[in-house]
Amino acid sequence: MPAPAAVTPAMVADMDRNDHLRPFRDAFVVPAGMIYLDGNSLGLLPVTAARRAREVIENEWGGSAISGWNDHHWIDLPHRVGAKIAPLIGAEDDEVVACDSTSANLFKVLAAALSLRPGRRTIVTNRGNFPTDVYIAEGLAAFAGHGCEVRYAEPSGLAAALDDSVAAVSFTHVDYKSCRIEDMAGITAIAHEAGALAVWDLAHSAGAIPVALNAARADFAVGCGYKYLNGGPGAPAFLFAARRHHAQMTQPLTGWMGHATPFTFDHRYQPAPGIRRMLTGTPPVVALSVLEVSAGLMLDAGIEALRDKGRQMTSLMIDLVARECAGHGLELGTPENAEQRGNHVIYRHPEAYAIVQALKARGVVGDFRNPDCIRLGIAPIYLSYADIFDAVQHLREVMNNREYERDSFRVRAAVT
Ligand SMILES: *Cc1c(COP(=O)(O)O)cnc(C)c1O
Repeated sequence: MPAPAAVTPAMVADMDRNDHLRPFRDAFVVPAGMIYLDGNSLGLLPVTAARRAREVIENEWGGSAISGWNDHHWIDLPHRVGAKIAPLIGAEDDEVVACDSTSANLFKVLAAALSLRPGRRTIVTNRGNFPTDVYIAEGLAAFAGHGCEVRYAEPSGLAAALDDSVAAVSFTHVDYKSCRIEDMAGITAIAHEAGALAVWDLAHSAGAIPVALNAARADFAVGCGYKYLNGGPGAPAFLFAARRHHAQMTQPLTGWMGHATPFTFDHRYQPAPGIRRMLTGTPPVVALSVLEVSAGLMLDAGIEALRDKGRQMTSLMIDLVARECAGHGLELGTPENAEQRGNHVIYRHPEAYAIVQALKARGVVGDFRNPDCIRLGIAPIYLSYADIFDAVQHLREVMNNREYERDSFRVRAAVT
């Protein structure tokens, strides 16, 4: 087979001209001189989000004080933001709330799954799952006691790990390292056949690729607001519970916001009907207001269009790196088949940490994941094809000049 024609800057400029999502770049604050390949860790700031934060703080909080809960409908924010996220993940409006962190929400939904499967005490997850997902499952098991335990199995070997002690199977839909997309419907079906419930972490899926929770018959899900949804540092997370579980599910963080009538100050806890029983405390109004407009932008762009562009961009990057950076020992750690891949690309290299620092010094911001991963995140809503092309030129220079050998690039910062 003849090698495909080399990609030229003119070809890339053409791709950008034909890109229908191109106007969305102007809806974001892209730092000058920066090629931002880290939208999967912290999305960029939408212009409307900054405006909305100012408006909520100065006008709503400043102008209304406590009346804002009613006058500006602050109390509904968890549901309103949940309803914005729902179409991105294949859920109904009343099945999603925005609240707490992904970690805290995972605790709640795993506990809810246990509550729905009395007599079953095992949670299955994989050792390669994101650390917080493993820690939370272990923490819940230790806290729940009575024989509750975590069992480890890879998604591909799930069937063999199941028996009638398993209450819940908990996997991440798009792996934070390999970027592999798991077969949500297939794995959920295997869990259900064994009588277990399926819990999905959508941290690297929501806003990146279309997710079909209900079509896959998923039971519960959680996900991040600050990654592809661009809700800002520490943005509230979200939680999905399938409607068929609403009447029976319970969770242990029984705060007043999950009470049927919080403002009767009843001394006895009575769970709210519906998804609201998954809430715990007072909603973070400023942060949720920001997430509301940020998630709205993803809806405006359209998740299918974002997926198409993301697929093309990761393919372009992989092709370019193969051509321009050959011989430098950069090993692709991401599925080659674009259908099996989410929106980031991983390269393994023994000098990964220093390479990421050298790229940063050139304005190309990616991240390092222990022990040897260079992770290049591609958020198609604000990146151009020219960004991808230019980023690979920088990577080639870093490798050709061995820039990663500089001592200052080997000093580890607190947050990587
Ligand atoms: C980013 C990420 C998290 C983060 O959880 P927080 O509670 O927001 O810190 C959890 N799970 C996965 C799979 C992630 O990628």
